[in-house]
Amino acid sequence: ISRSSSSRCCLSSVKMTVSVDQKKKTFTLEKSEQAFNAAKPIIIDSVKGSHMWDIDGNEYIDYVGSWGPAIIGHADDEVLAALAETMKKGTSFGAPCLLENVLAEMVISAVPSIEMVRFVNSGTEACMGVLRLARAFTGKTKLIKFEGCYHGHADAFLVKAGSGVATLGLPDSPGVPKAATSNTLTAPYNDIAAIEELFKTHKGEIAAVILEPVVGNSGFITPTPEFLNSIRSITKENDTLLIFDEVMTGFRLAYGGAQEYYGITPDLTTLGKIIGGGLPVGAYGGRRDIMEMVAPAGPMYQAGTLSGNPLAMTAGIHTLKRLQRSGTYEYLDKITSQLIEGILDAGKKGGHAICGGYISGMFGFFFTEGPVYNFEDAKKSDTAKFAKFYRGMLEEGVYLAPSQFEAGFTGLAHTPEDIQRTIDAAEKVFRQL
Ligand code: PLP
Repeated sequence: ISRSSSSRCCLSSVKMTVSVDQKKKTFTLEKSEQAFNAAKPIIIDSVKGSHMWDIDGNEYIDYVGSWGPAIIGHADDEVLAALAETMKKGTSFGAPCLLENVLAEMVISAVPSIEMVRFVNSGTEACMGVLRLARAFTGKTKLIKFEGCYHGHADAFLVKAGSGVATLGLPDSPGVPKAATSNTLTAPYNDIAAIEELFKTHKGEIAAVILEPVVGNSGFITPTPEFLNSIRSITKENDTLLIFDEVMTGFRLAYGGAQEYYGITPDLTTLGKIIGGGLPVGAYGGRRDIMEMVAPAGPMYQAGTLSGNPLAMTAGIHTLKRLQRSGTYEYLDKITSQLIEGILDAGKKGGHAICGGYISGMFGFFFTEGPVYNFEDAKKSDTAKFAKFYRGMLEEGVYLAPSQFEAGFTGLAHTPEDIQRTIDAAEKVFRQL
């Protein structure tokens, strides 16, 4: 029997080969690692708070947080209790439920650009939906995305994409017909001149510009102060819609996401991860006049069997409620600054070229002097050194994202002791690199 299981970023994909000795009726499990950076595959058995345990009983401090959703900590008691209550009433209704309205109201009151919202089942679906909507609304077809940004795995976005595509050094994926990406234009992140040039060359054709307002999928990269402002102005001037993909940054950089943090309001926003509290979810929303085009109110078709699922809604509601408590983002800021400063100090003391940064509960560091403004800069990192560092940290019981081209996440469950243990581990590993 051969079975492949793969998470969002193929890095943690593991191939398990189970051989069955028919005579002795015994099983041997051979794990062959396909991952880029792991010395041996870790297969997770359980998670709680900021920690996780693998099937061999090893414990890790987790800075991946299920790739973002676990901002209040894994398997939170209140979320689990609420899920158990909801589950008693059934797992899926195939009809509207009040929980959708509760979560929708929470999202609308939190995220500045969102006047109406549509729930889907993943960030990929949210980005697919929002692109169709932008094209339907503007009557234009071209899309601008940025090199190294990842917007899920729908065909139109798999052009110079970040995340697992970048880590594995894949070309724009086989299986995506040229026609599916012929309307996708790309520019380097933080490059205003490149965007102005695209708008000149494709005047009147650009339906939308989509971006990660803070990049997490080429590693952690922040926008320059002028970049988001310029994109906001140029899209307005050209009747092009601005889409913030906040699948990662939503409710993470601030309760209202990157748009609250930077004070820039896009026309449309995509969400995922945190708003599902660890269950499958996605959402897109924005200006009422645009959202009213979505079926059944309008003609832009998009639907989903499990969308607005009561379990995902429940986990989302209770996660957001926890984030609303005072001190949330101050705490994230405090522990993440300690973490990243500790890692950078340890790296420099060890004589390594390293740079990095953080905002609230999102951070990253590159094995290069920097500065890193875009994916090309990120690719100057010493990825072989990163791989060694990653493995060393794993040995020390610290689970970081297994790629130089991914951001890290902290959450409310991380304690000052977790942070100190991580910095101590980093000092040790840097000395050995
Ligand atoms: N957009 C961004 C910014 C993401 O980081 C991701 C996934 O990490 C996606 C979209 C796709 O979301 P999903 O994996 O839920 O399909």
